[in-house]
Amino acid sequence: MLTYTMAQIDESELIRIRRDIHMHPELGWDVKRTSEVVCRELDRAGISYERDRYGRNSVVALIEGDAEDRTDFTIALRADMDALPIEEADRGQPYISRNSGVMHACGHDAHTSMMIAVAKALQGLKNLLACRVKIIFQPCEESRPSGAKILCENGVMDDVDCIVMCHVNCNDPCGAPSCCSGVTNACSAPFSIRVHGESVHVASPHRGKDALAMGVRIYEGIQLMLSREKDPFDPCVIGVCTMHAGNTRATNADLCEMTGSIRCFRDGTLSWIRERMQRLCSTVCEDMGGTFELTIDPEPLPCAINSDVLYRAFLRSSETVLGPGGVLPLLPSPGGEDFAYYEKKKPGLLFGLGCRNDEKGFNRPAHTRDWDIDEGAMITGVRLFVQFVLTHMHGIEGLKA
Ligand SMILES: [Zn+2]
Repeated sequence: MLTYTMAQIDESELIRIRRDIHMHPELGWDVKRTSEVVCRELDRAGISYERDRYGRNSVVALIEGDAEDRTDFTIALRADMDALPIEEADRGQPYISRNSGVMHACGHDAHTSMMIAVAKALQGLKNLLACRVKIIFQPCEESRPSGAKILCENGVMDDVDCIVMCHVNCNDPCGAPSCCSGVTNACSAPFSIRVHGESVHVASPHRGKDALAMGVRIYEGIQLMLSREKDPFDPCVIGVCTMHAGNTRATNADLCEMTGSIRCFRDGTLSWIRERMQRLCSTVCEDMGGTFELTIDPEPLPCAINSDVLYRAFLRSSETVLGPGGVLPLLPSPGGEDFAYYEKKKPGLLFGLGCRNDEKGFNRPAHTRDWDIDEGAMITGVRLFVQFVLTHMHGIEGLKA
């Protein structure tokens, strides 16, 4: 069997590129400079790619194996490239963000630089490679419209058999991968409710319809619905985060507006919530004489779900890199991940990579000003990707079932 040890991985270059991207973070679809760095590195390695074909500033590289027993089996690997609108805290790090108010606080700089190294390593093994590897550098994971959604609509997944991504985290020790079968990230759907009543002098409530009172009953109804009607083993959150009603002390409110977000781990649960919230609002408004508009995002970010076949395949290839038992369990996150759109098209796998280093203070949650990672973990991420491809380049049994 081919092993990653045959691959050329230059760790100092990996760190240099990560720092370069970290210093020049860009938002959403506007990752022009970052995608130029990717193209420059792919050019240097003689790897062919298409820029902008599947979405603005996207870069999709293709490495076609030249081994005698090559097949059309195609593994896609994905890295996201965008940063966040956060001002980075100055901890004296020489590679602090040069773009004020913008920061790589979710590790996408590490994802992109690891993927450049993976592409170079696989290109170096082209003569021995028996499959095709499609490497996707994606803009706009953090905001909408989602990069993954647009790239999928433009056909990026049409000629691939499966897709794999890595997300760094500062929970697990440096270099420790984590993975699981089944759901990895919640489905996420924002909602808003507008309740209309009829305003009247506070002294004559019987002549009006109190929108605030209806809003409160709906708020309470949501809490009861969650605690009394939901399976406790099917976790879900419905957070009402704003509620506004009325504008004066002596007149009942004729409008009550609420906004919030739903997080759940099964697409079926969201359909149940849609139906149940609709019924709750209409029961309350019918009872008290009001009307309402309930809007739950018609195109919510779907749940991200790891394929069981790919999970077992990942355990097998990782054992070659780390020895047995090297992969920690990955717990599902209530945060969204737009990788879910690729997984709607083909089986997918997300694995985590620990980058924690308590001594250096690299133990902060993602999306915070003082987030940073132990760069020493990245080389393991590259090896895990490369070995996944080398172990499974002849196909993965059960994938198409
Ligand atoms: Zn992220």
